[in-house]
Amino acid sequence: AVPLVVAVSTSLAAKSGLLIRDRTAFEKARNIQAIIFDKTGTLTKGVFGVADIISLGDLNENEVLRYSASIESNSEHPIAQGVVKTSKEKELELAKTSEFKAIAGKGVEAKVDGKMMKVVSPGYLKEKNIEVRDDRAEKLLGQGKTVVYLLEGDRPLGVLALADIVRDESKDAIKKLKDMGIKCIMLTGDNESVAKAVSEEIGIDEYFANVLPDKKAEKVKEVQKKYSVAMVGDGINDAPALVQADVGIAIGAGTDVAVESADIILVKNDPRDVVDIVNLSKKTYRKML
Ligand code: ADP
Ligand code: MG
Repeated sequence: AVPLVVAVSTSLAAKSGLLIRDRTAFEKARNIQAIIFDKTGTLTKGVFGVADIISLGDLNENEVLRYSASIESNSEHPIAQGVVKTSKEKELELAKTSEFKAIAGKGVEAKVDGKMMKVVSPGYLKEKNIEVRDDRAEKLLGQGKTVVYLLEGDRPLGVLALADIVRDESKDAIKKLKDMGIKCIMLTGDNESVAKAVSEEIGIDEYFANVLPDKKAEKVKEVQKKYSVAMVGDGINDAPALVQADVGIAIGAGTDVAVESADIILVKNDPRDVVDIVNLSKKTYRKML
């Protein structure tokens, strides 16, 4: 039987927009020492727009955007949605694609106009030793924007820089958690300069950038060597990390896989509700001792 205080707290939690799926995890929340947050869609809104376009070859900027959007129209990633949205705003007509494939944590590829093209991360270029010597591209990376490259085969055709918006609630949530003595860490597949800029803006203690989807759970494990860890995420990529963490927390608006992998769901998509989880867990289980 579930003790009365726990039952009462669970319904109290539900009223404040917290769905507790695993009571053992909820109990552990009171002793959490570190919280790892996914960046895109968790601390930020995950709503991108294309802020800058650079052509590196013969295409004009609208063509760079149009080809990228055509490929990205097959993907549900927040970056893909941002590229497609911006091309729609410019009323560009998308080209037909075939042989679409996602390259997990790195980008996407498809055949467009008979050519294999990709939209990929700076990390992918590095891995393939593809060099882009362009001051404008360097500058965008330095500005803390999310940068992706359009390639034909291995040949760079253009650069897109996207900007995301930090959730207003994130700063407040991090401040409160830090005041409670909890270490706040950010985990992202995005590039180093974006990670640094967002961390500084929000007040995050430490970050891991360029983390590939299959390495997120490993990072959680690493942090668990020192601390008892909660993980907060929204994406398909976050699911194994949510399972690995002592307490897995999903943003309610996140992907089904993340929500199903979590112990607790933030129905209101508000990171400040993480503070309430810890406080409510403390209150509930203190009463029982
Ligand atoms: P996050 O951890 O911030 O949620 P992801 O692991 O989903 O990020 O993605 C990591 C990186 O992989 C992105 O910053 C981007 O560079 C690249 N990427 C992933 N999906 C796409 C896509 N559909 N189009 C372009 N780039 C992508
Ligand atoms: Mg995410």
